[in-house]
Amino acid sequence: MDLADAKLYCEYISSYICKEEGHEPLLLDFRDIKASWARYDQNLITMSHGWCQYRKQVVFAVMIHEVCHFLHYRDYQLAKTNGGNFPYIGHGLRFKEYERKWLKHFGMRPIYSKAYWHTLTDLNGNVLYDKRYDARSV
Ligand SMILES: [Zn+2]
Repeated sequence: MDLADAKLYCEYISSYICKEEGHEPLLLDFRDIKASWARYDQNLITMSHGWCQYRKQVVFAVMIHEVCHFLHYRDYQLAKTNGGNFPYIGHGLRFKEYERKWLKHFGMRPIYSKAYWHTLTDLNGNVLYDKRYDARSV
């Protein structure tokens, strides 16, 4: 897909999830970053141009991953404000709950190896993306 389409899709995913989850809107930026595929900071998600080479579902999934970091972090902050005392685990169970939920909403299921999914299937188990057959890592 071209960059304009990728931006539109990512804006759509981000604003849709934030609205549903009652989270403030996030800013989105596409850059030609070589060092990483995506990163997040404050209210900003930066996506690499490299994602344009992938099919739509993979771009959706990467965007979902980044947005879920904000949802997870918000929960953590709220719990801490309410006196909770537990470690923050960036790709922990709570994060993955969000990620599974939103991937499912968009018709995908992740297969994890530790922090990241290595394979994405549709809800019938058909493989949409498999990192083992992709020279570029996620
Ligand atoms: Zn992450």
